[in-house]
Amino acid sequence: MRDRSPDRLETDVLVIGAGPAGSAGALTLARHGLRVILADRARFPRDKACGDALIPDALAALARLGIEQQVLPRARRLAGLVITAPGGRRVQLRGPCAALPRRLLDDVLRQAAVDAGARWMSPARAIGPIEVGDRICGAMLSVTPDETLLRVRANWTILAAGGASIRLLQAFGVLRRPTPSAMAVRFYAHVPPPLSDTFDELHISFARDLSPGYGWVFPGPGHVFNLGVGVFGDARPADGRLNLRVLLDRFCRTFPPARAVLGASTSVTPLAGAPLRTGLAGAQLGRPGLLVAGEAAGTTYPLTGEGIGMALATGMAAAETIAQAAGDPDGACDQAYARHVESDFAARFQAYSLAQRYMAYPVVADYLAWRARTDGFVRRSLEALFNEAADARVLFSPAGLVRALRG
Ligand SMILES: Cc1cc2nc3c(=O)[nH]c(=O)nc-3n(C[C@H](O)[C@H](O)[C@H](O)COP(=O)(O)OP(=O)(O)OC[C@H]3O[C@@H](n4cnc5c(N)ncnc54)[C@H](O)[C@@H]3O)c2cc1C
Repeated sequence: MRDRSPDRLETDVLVIGAGPAGSAGALTLARHGLRVILADRARFPRDKACGDALIPDALAALARLGIEQQVLPRARRLAGLVITAPGGRRVQLRGPCAALPRRLLDDVLRQAAVDAGARWMSPARAIGPIEVGDRICGAMLSVTPDETLLRVRANWTILAAGGASIRLLQAFGVLRRPTPSAMAVRFYAHVPPPLSDTFDELHISFARDLSPGYGWVFPGPGHVFNLGVGVFGDARPADGRLNLRVLLDRFCRTFPPARAVLGASTSVTPLAGAPLRTGLAGAQLGRPGLLVAGEAAGTTYPLTGEGIGMALATGMAAAETIAQAAGDPDGACDQAYARHVESDFAARFQAYSLAQRYMAYPVVADYLAWRARTDGFVRRSLEALFNEAADARVLFSPAGLVRALRG
């Protein structure tokens, strides 16, 4: 790092991290006419270990952001999700879905924020906050190529990075849970037609040896499939079984769609993986001057590991809260934002956490899959849940499960 006093910049809002949460936040703020700096340690476009699935909540968030037309033509549109229960029973859920590699999705989002007026800084790695009393007033960035130290002063900072590594959360004083909730790995396989054209849905399997977790086969654009496994470590004993490479290998040999895809593939990429922080737990949602959005705040869903939709939603929510307080730079945005997230999203996360606990018992997952084929309530609830058209507690609450079990 260059050894001299840091350069300085001033802005209304500094957004750290240009994943879905950060870019959605920066785009929203720029549209409100605020001066925004969007900083990421990576040079874009960059890869990101992910299943690349855009489930209905992500598509709805992209529509709210007004950029689905920039995303969908690049993506592979899919008709829904097929869940395979531990015993092999399949449940098909209809709903608009898509898949687009994060290398492309995140760059579209970032570019939309820049086009709206956000100032892009990359590679620019946040090191820690600038604090005045107990208020955060921006951050110190290390800017490549020569690792210049830059002091960015901001009325508000949105921390949308640190989901995968806790160092930033620690530095900003918002860390609550040092261990990740889950680990997941994936790779891509090129699968030429005709086989690739026969896939029209996302496929996930709650195979017994992945429990609590699942494996997936997601068809993407350009005849490229994304295959992976994710295991929720916070619900699993640390007994050495968590070798994801071994689990993925077994999944690829035993799950019929994965076997078919790999049998026809012409090339595969190396594995890439990352930890997940789920359940809206593990970090404080803010401090004076600071709002935490996306996976840094644990906004990835337990049970499914899907997080793009909620990252977009919390990024937008953080930005809207700041925009509403723009006339009052000292306003308690962090508290307003935390209240908003708690009231709008917390119940959903509780229900998914409960679902994760129940689904860890293969017998429950098998029974639910069987009921989904024989009982209208279970089927309707699962489909409504998938489409974000129902409160997750309808099914995943003690009362909902009793109703599902009784029929
Ligand atoms: C293997 C795997 C599969 C998954 N599959 C799916 C899926 O199919 N669908 C789905 O919806 N979700 C999926 N998820 C979850 C999803 O990836 C996350 O929920 C989502 O990426 C969260 O978005 P975010 O914007 O909060 O953070 P991120 O996407 O992690 O973005 C954070 C950004 O911050 C930057 N950054 C990090 N540190 C710094 C720093 N010090 N300074 C500056 N910038 C920094 C990073 O470079 C990155 O660009 C998966 C996760 C994994 C690990």
